Amino acid sequence: MRIADNLNAIKTGLPSHVTLVAVSKTKPVSDLMEAYDAGQRIFGENKIQEMAEKYEAMPKDIEWHMIGHVQTNKVKFMAPFVALIHGVDSLKLLEEINKQAKKNNRIIDCLLQVHIAEEETKFGLNEKELAELLTSETLKSLRSIRITGLMGMATFTDNPAQIRKEFLFLKSLFDHFRPLDAENCRLNILSMGMSGDYQTAIECGSTMVRIGSSIFGGR
Ligand SMILES: *Cc1c(COP(=O)(O)O)cnc(C)c1O
Repeated sequence: MRIADNLNAIKTGLPSHVTLVAVSKTKPVSDLMEAYDAGQRIFGENKIQEMAEKYEAMPKDIEWHMIGHVQTNKVKFMAPFVALIHGVDSLKLLEEINKQAKKNNRIIDCLLQVHIAEEETKFGLNEKELAELLTSETLKSLRSIRITGLMGMATFTDNPAQIRKEFLFLKSLFDHFRPLDAENCRLNILSMGMSGDYQTAIECGSTMVRIGSSIFGGR
């Protein structure tokens, strides 16, 4: 019961306002079921195909979160069931999610991913692009999506001051844009923190942590 033990140890340490997404990418359904049987109902995956297969195979009271980069042409495969898409970083992608949500008679919740790390390779909007997207006229017309928060990933470094600085920057953007209050845009969720840095993220204001290896083991 190693997975259940890991899960329980992490859950015990989380403040009640912080939601745990169990990141199960690359892990077999039997591992996810061990977490499920220990009470976990929110799982995060980074590949749409893999998430859809696990969705088919597992109980239907699970919330599936897409935490990876999303290709526009694959949105349709998760639109019937996905609960939250963390990595949205363009209006074009939002328009496609809106279209597929409408086809499925759903409203799909999305987080906007902000680039806060030093590495060039990570996806996400910069501060200016975030402001433009949140205030765009096109966004107002998208009635089948809802922007419910922001997501970010800190630089992969063992310098805690750097990580803290990046999380605090994302928190400041979150606070800045929180007064926006449209039917389809209301920021309540701040998704930041992974196995190595989630405690720092919570100290900096995270309300949702995405934890994989500390629950399921290395990949
Ligand atoms: C893999 C992944 C995680 C979890 O990483 P761990 O270090 O295994 O906890 C969190 N967020 C995203 C976006 C990921 O791709």
